Amino acid sequence: MLKRYEALDERLGKIGSYAQLLYAQDMSNPDVGRFYQSVQERITEIASRVLFFGLELNQLDEAVVEGLLADPAAARYRPWIAATRAFRPHQLPDAQEKLLLEKSLTGRSAWVRLFDETMAALRIPLDGRELTSTEVLALMVSPERKTRQDATQAFGKALGEQVRVFSLITNTLAKDKEVEDRWRKYPRPISSRNLGNRVEDEVVAALISAVRAAYPRLAHRYYKLKAGWLGLPHLEAWDRNAPLPGAPDRQIPWSEATQTVLSAYTKFSPDLGKVAEQFFEKPWIDAPLRPGKAPGAFAHPTVPSAHPYLLVNYQGKVRDVMTLAHELGHGVHQVLAGKEQGHLLADTPLTLAETASVFGEMLTFRALLAAEKEKRPGAAALPAGLQGRGHAEHGGSANRAAFV
Ligand SMILES: [Zn+2]
Repeated sequence: MLKRYEALDERLGKIGSYAQLLYAQDMSNPDVGRFYQSVQERITEIASRVLFFGLELNQLDEAVVEGLLADPAAARYRPWIAATRAFRPHQLPDAQEKLLLEKSLTGRSAWVRLFDETMAALRIPLDGRELTSTEVLALMVSPERKTRQDATQAFGKALGEQVRVFSLITNTLAKDKEVEDRWRKYPRPISSRNLGNRVEDEVVAALISAVRAAYPRLAHRYYKLKAGWLGLPHLEAWDRNAPLPGAPDRQIPWSEATQTVLSAYTKFSPDLGKVAEQFFEKPWIDAPLRPGKAPGAFAHPTVPSAHPYLLVNYQGKVRDVMTLAHELGHGVHQVLAGKEQGHLLADTPLTLAETASVFGEMLTFRALLAAEKEKRPGAAALPAGLQGRGHAEHGGSANRAAFV
């Protein structure tokens, strides 16, 4: 039964990710938008008919589940069953679960889609040109202070003009979540996410308070140093991500970025390098800027019977190379997990998924640092960190694939 469910869910996932990726390529095309919506509707309809599977699995007593897991063919699925059963205390009666799933199309996902399409359609007037958010974000890290300030203010103004839409989206999503969390009896807004990530609320709370306590020692001290390097009494919002003075502002061609990232991966492990190479050869990466394309970056695992795809908006900066290295880390992990584990078991919580990507990012950062000859601050660019990437999603059964 698990195998049949897995095969069905993989088929739904394959169709769903195809529509999703087509849509990410061009969110402004109404034909693509209509196709994406119809596919989502059809998938929800089918998913709603097989929803009973997970619900009934969770209604079984622990002893019964353990008895069934004595069969080695079933035992293989133990991690997936545990991840599903983790949500057991928060499960609602079947009819309510079904209603929530079907209503999510016109609820939460419709609001998320409105946000994505509004952001993709945003055109920001700057110096007589109409720029996309991706293009303006790049100008916000220009070495020229005036350019950074103009870009930041133009972006703020353009967002301000949409404030009615954005505040309605935010407030609606927050209320929608509050209602569902209350029905499901989650103690805190973060609880459902933590449960999906297989990490306890207390652990995350301890992490957050430790990071907060370190603000003066790390962030404040760093920004003070940076203000000094930039020769400013204090940093304005548009100086926060400014390159350090003397940092080379050259354009890194795509071929060089490919070379840098692949050689960093290969140096660590030739096997890892081989898996990574496919992404460029096949190619499985959508790199150039286009109007209407989804902003940010993500790695989509699709399903193990296909292969992952990466989306980046490559503009030739060091941070773009780091983003490529990050998404490629996800991609390599997704290829290996899919091949080894199959559809249901390949799914990983974000806490684990980000380990692979940050690892790939650090390999690349170290390679860039090792290649740097100058020993002064600003000679090598700092890693872009986790800022400015695509949003993370952890969806329902048919489309559980995470954008990371
Ligand atoms: Zn990531």
